[in-house]
Amino acid sequence: MNAMNVRQAAVDSIINYRPAGGKVNYVTKPFCDVYGEHVFSERVQRERLPAPIFDALQKTIKAGEELDSAIADAVAVAMKDWAIEHGATHFCHWFLPMTGLTAEKHDSFITPTPDGCALAEFSGKNLVRGEGDASSLPSGGLRATFEARGYTAWDPSSPAFILDNPNGATLVIPTMFISWTGDALDKKTPLLRSMEALNKQALRVLRLFGNTTAKRVLTTLGAEQEYFLIDKHFFFARPDLLTCGRTLLGARPPKGQELGDQYFGAIPERVLAFMAEMEYELMRLGVPVKTRHNEAAPGQYEIAPLFETANLATDHQMVVMEALKRVADHYGMTCLLHEKPFAGVNGSGKHNNWSMMTDEGENLLNPGDTPHANAQFLTFCAAVCRAVFIYAGLLRLSVASASNDHRLGAAEAPPAVISVFLGEQLHDVMMQLETGSAKRSKKRSDIQVGINFLPKLPRDAGDRNRTSPFAFTGNKFEFRAVGSNQSVAEPTTVLNTIVAESLDFVAGELEKALGAGKEFNQALQTLLAKMVHEFKPILFEGDNYCQEWHAEAARRGLPNYRNSVDAFDLMTTPQSVSLFTKYHVYSERELHSRQEIMLNKYIQDVNIEAQTQALMARTMLLPAVLRFQSEVAGAILSAKAAAGIEDAEQASLLKELVAAAAALRAATRALDHAVASQPNDKAEYKTSENGNAEHRRATAHARYMRDTILPAMTDVRTAADKLETLVDDAHWPLPTYREMWFMR
Ligand code: ADP
Ligand code: MG
Repeated sequence: MNAMNVRQAAVDSIINYRPAGGKVNYVTKPFCDVYGEHVFSERVQRERLPAPIFDALQKTIKAGEELDSAIADAVAVAMKDWAIEHGATHFCHWFLPMTGLTAEKHDSFITPTPDGCALAEFSGKNLVRGEGDASSLPSGGLRATFEARGYTAWDPSSPAFILDNPNGATLVIPTMFISWTGDALDKKTPLLRSMEALNKQALRVLRLFGNTTAKRVLTTLGAEQEYFLIDKHFFFARPDLLTCGRTLLGARPPKGQELGDQYFGAIPERVLAFMAEMEYELMRLGVPVKTRHNEAAPGQYEIAPLFETANLATDHQMVVMEALKRVADHYGMTCLLHEKPFAGVNGSGKHNNWSMMTDEGENLLNPGDTPHANAQFLTFCAAVCRAVFIYAGLLRLSVASASNDHRLGAAEAPPAVISVFLGEQLHDVMMQLETGSAKRSKKRSDIQVGINFLPKLPRDAGDRNRTSPFAFTGNKFEFRAVGSNQSVAEPTTVLNTIVAESLDFVAGELEKALGAGKEFNQALQTLLAKMVHEFKPILFEGDNYCQEWHAEAARRGLPNYRNSVDAFDLMTTPQSVSLFTKYHVYSERELHSRQEIMLNKYIQDVNIEAQTQALMARTMLLPAVLRFQSEVAGAILSAKAAAGIEDAEQASLLKELVAAAAALRAATRALDHAVASQPNDKAEYKTSENGNAEHRRATAHARYMRDTILPAMTDVRTAADKLETLVDDAHWPLPTYREMWFMR
């Protein structure tokens, strides 16, 4: 298919498109019955397991108690029967490897019998542990290929589910992925460890506040996901989208998002049909999808579920991303999850709404109705602020990637400088705490003494600051710098750990003061004043997008890791190692391995983009430009031959074209040269110890990608985008931004 045909085919398909209905019918089956029908949920467990087994399983799920093998066997049988009734032939251990995607290996239930028939078998052993030779998954040097053994271990806190495919179904069992040496090879294991760390420290603080009944504190997470949809034909016609997930070229069309007519606009019918089917699938899987709407950029949308415990929310978030991609395809579209698929309009992010909740359902970041509850709320809130102040760099690191670098700080997403927005009233209260006690509220006059008083905090959208990377939104914090394409596991792991450390500090200080005979309220006031004084520089209520803030942040000494390469170093600093090892979230080896994976991924991402862009310039754009150039030259020659016309404007068009083509050619050659001159072409750096030569080489390589390759790519893009506005549209081989954004 030649270039124009690809574009024409896409246009035809869009014009003739009628959403295929009929997949979802809530009249025949109300959505309340659909919800969770593919989950081995607590309800299903209760129905299908003998009471003592059900109780034992619940204890494992809710209190982390070990499950003995007889019980595992009984659970496995019930799970298998349930799965087979739902059409499953296979089961798989599903995990979150360090690629940031999901991984699964399917095994069938089938066991042949001696008489030539077959039985369905599935034991406790199959359920609890699987052996995964996943040596091709990144481990950052933790495992060499020749010692590839790793194993998957059932995570009972995330229920098994059924995944349908057009020709069957699979029982999916969420698991951790661990090496034989006990190192975490996945994103779930550290997340669970961090939830445990936070649980322990939060309970200590709660006990000091006199809470003797809560048994656990859970982390809660609600992740809002932004994404783009474009027609599939456009996607396949663009090598950059296909291989890199973002456009590496593309001139700005006259219209983008400047009219503000996309956000919350009417959802196109085709898109709505897609959303409905996707939500149907997600509902069956027990993902509590709640919100859907148009986002700010053309072709951009958002989906947000209700919050759940962080572990489940993280698994569900992966399921959401996969459903987005899979179901979009049913409607002739491709879902782009990249942080910055298009230049010139907003990119996509994820907002991690995060809080802490007791097993009794008390949200610890909910301002209370009583003075006591408010003192407790302020303490937890202050602990979070202190954590973000001390460990801002680690939060920044947790969202670092080559792709998120295109978005953070681009005046559409929070900047790389981490700060905390509290809202006017809470900010004011914190300021008063610093000077001893909160005596007044900005908005109300019925003043009480001490930190016992907290004004009712507004929870309406008017009080929102959309520019802050870390904002308090009424009863939770919202971390907004998370990338649309990344797993929410890492940012949540870091957040849990740094808050655990902060709560540990709070509990330690209070216990010390009480031990010295101080009265609780007095001790708390002294401590909070000290804490606010310390973390005050992290609080910022203004516009995070403006330049003045960057200058102000620098004055305050807040770190600004403008790009990921700068942030990668933070993974293995003494501060990071001592924090994560103290709370048993990452071992030092694991930190080094993860750092290597991030470095490798950065290098490879940029490398693949650079090669793709150069290839497109050489094999798609330059030939098209030369064809058009020769047409123009031919027209000039024929005008002269036919009528002796020598038009200066036509000659200048030709000259402009030749100059622009030469600029593209020169920029492409420079990029090719830069790619060929990389420090080395190693596929993967493997290091295990701090400061070793291999690590230094990897860092130098990443810096080269950032400082030499990315600028060379910018030059190619500048030259190419100029040509796109000069060359005959019929010759242009790539779907344009105008088409991809507005044809749906
Ligand atoms: P907003 O308008 O502030 O974005 P919403 O109430 O729509 O707020 O919530 C956005 C996300 O925050 C949803 O996923 C929601 O479930 C989640 N959320 C609400 N409360 C909590 C909480 N206590 N912990 C974690 N996430 C929460
Ligand atoms: Mg929000």
